Amino acid sequence: MKISSLTCPHCHAAYEIAESTSAVGAPGRVDCGICGTPLAAWSEPKLRAFRLVVPPEHKYPRVPAPAPLV
Ligand SMILES: [Zn+2]
Repeated sequence: MKISSLTCPHCHAAYEIAESTSAVGAPGRVDCGICGTPLAAWSEPKLRAFRLVVPPEHKYPRVPAPAPLV
């Protein structure tokens, strides 16, 4: 199993790609699950699994919500 990572060029969502080095898959392609931008396409019979690891909104520090007035 080979693990690599990929970032969507459009929305910057981070993906982890697990590629099996022994199992035979099929040619395929994958699009970003957030914005639909094509991320990768392959013509070899490879078994690949894509997993979203960092949604784009988590790439930026969250602004803490102001404390509620009592
Ligand atoms: Zn995207």
